[in-house]
Amino acid sequence: MAPQVYTSPVPDYPVLTTSVFTRVFSSRAPGDVGGFPGSQKAFVDASSGASITRAQLLHLSLSFAHGLKYHPRTSPFANRGNVVLIYSPNSLAWPVVLFGSVAAGLRCALANSAYTSDELAFQYSDSRANLILTSEEGLDVVRATFAKIGVAKEDADRRIIVLGNDLRWAGGPSAAPCSAAAGLLKMEDLLGAGKLDHEESFEGHLAHETTYLCYSSGTTGKPKGVETTHQNMTTILDIMGAAFPPVRTGLDMMLGILPFYHIFGVSKLLHFPFVLGIPVVIQRRFDPIQFCAVIEKYRVTMSMVVPPILVVLARHPAVDHYDMSSLEILFCGAAPLGHTLAKSVKTRLLAKRGGRGVFDITQGYGLTETSPSTHMLPLADAARKMGSIGILLPNLQARLVEDDDGNLDAGPGQPGELWVRGKTVMKGYLNNSAATKHAITPEGWFRTGDVAVRDAEGYYYIVDRRKELIKYKGFQVPPAELENVLLTHPDVADAAVIGVDNVEEATELPRAYIVHVNPSVVQTAKARADFGNSVAKWMTTKVARHKYLRGGVEIIDVVPKSASGKILRRELRELAKRQLKQS
Ligand code: AMP
Repeated sequence: MAPQVYTSPVPDYPVLTTSVFTRVFSSRAPGDVGGFPGSQKAFVDASSGASITRAQLLHLSLSFAHGLKYHPRTSPFANRGNVVLIYSPNSLAWPVVLFGSVAAGLRCALANSAYTSDELAFQYSDSRANLILTSEEGLDVVRATFAKIGVAKEDADRRIIVLGNDLRWAGGPSAAPCSAAAGLLKMEDLLGAGKLDHEESFEGHLAHETTYLCYSSGTTGKPKGVETTHQNMTTILDIMGAAFPPVRTGLDMMLGILPFYHIFGVSKLLHFPFVLGIPVVIQRRFDPIQFCAVIEKYRVTMSMVVPPILVVLARHPAVDHYDMSSLEILFCGAAPLGHTLAKSVKTRLLAKRGGRGVFDITQGYGLTETSPSTHMLPLADAARKMGSIGILLPNLQARLVEDDDGNLDAGPGQPGELWVRGKTVMKGYLNNSAATKHAITPEGWFRTGDVAVRDAEGYYYIVDRRKELIKYKGFQVPPAELENVLLTHPDVADAAVIGVDNVEEATELPRAYIVHVNPSVVQTAKARADFGNSVAKWMTTKVARHKYLRGGVEIIDVVPKSASGKILRRELRELAKRQLKQS
């Protein structure tokens, strides 16, 4: 039987074959950069107020690209196709170095700014990066990373570019570099010596070359480099507009709070608002009070958020102390958004302004592997279809599949694994053809690992997850990665990690089940609790914060496994439910 293939209700857009830089900065006369006045602000640093205009961003990017290519320290590492790794929290330097690296024809590996040196060493080596762009506060970890992978100090120092706190290049405040940055190349050192006349070209079939490498564990295993191409990124720019409300130039202001190193941040905060002519106020890290203060100060009208930020908006007292009346739209993604949570935020924010004005929350869905959005709930449907991830975006096809091989499609209204096909699906996992083959069928269908239903009107709902992945506040926590770390503990004989729901915080929490190498020493409840606590504490020295075992560590006699050795996670999830009910 022919598969049941769904398409979008929105007509397809013509697909471009060009570089993401060429697309974003499509027009570049002094008075018109990318379709809007060059003098318009593009990015603003929330804490200092320093900003760069659209024309400055274009100039700085091409200048940084020139520096990368021709500065004697970086030029050996800046040939077309080389990989540069960015390891920094959000900052005003981010758009400059990202677009500059892309203009120079480099591929950008984007690392979580909370990574430990073990995690960073894995990504640096796996992506075969040559250079690391880091904030000052990341320098210790970067140095430890190079030491771990055996790069001598002198060589390591040639491969570091520091994104300092000195914002004079953006007309902002000056700041002395930290002592650890002495002797290292600063981002500013690469600006001002000239600028590329034109970015590296990726026209035609070259648009299928990789531009970004974000890391994702996919449906199983350890994090893998997701090869996102120029064409993936140019396509998503066009198709996302399908469900986006009309922009009010000069009024709309976006808050850039989600991390730029996630494809969600790159796509929705660095590319998309620029193309739409919406300035972005950059906030370094999420803090409830700062979040509200920045909305008040910059009259923010819209923000991309994740469900835990909505929990703050529903409950935190700071919301009452700031004027948040400018805020009109929140776009939520990266994890499931519950109907009740959305409703309580909406009720609170509208009540605060006496029921006047406009405020809505809408939801999108996607994955690192799909650049990222595949579905969005149009604003006009936000109230009526709250809880839905919305409609399939144009240029994409979807299936809901009941079996592993794709021979059986779910019936109308029935759940099935969501498969997606289209120009936004990644090229594959970097240097990992086995994982790519597992993720993308020969017919080009990408298996999301999420279970969805589609209602009679064509709106989709995520109802379950078939894959191993745990998400803590929108961040990926791959169980296999934590299990591997746990197995390096001298007293752990076996380990399994699952996610447990925490409704209060609108997130999942990673919970470990471990077996002691010598079960006789963990016979009493106290001994088991002490051992579990000590392992949870030990993990905090090994992994980034979002991977801490906040869901607890339980001691068991044996990890349940299938005959083929696969961890029976469903059994553990049932066990966790019973245990958590009792406690
Ligand atoms: P990432 O690659 O980090 O973006 O994670 C992708 C995964 O996040 C998806 O496969 C889903 O499991 C989850 N996800 C993203 N958006 C949503 C959403 N709106 N509702 C439910 N799950 C989501």
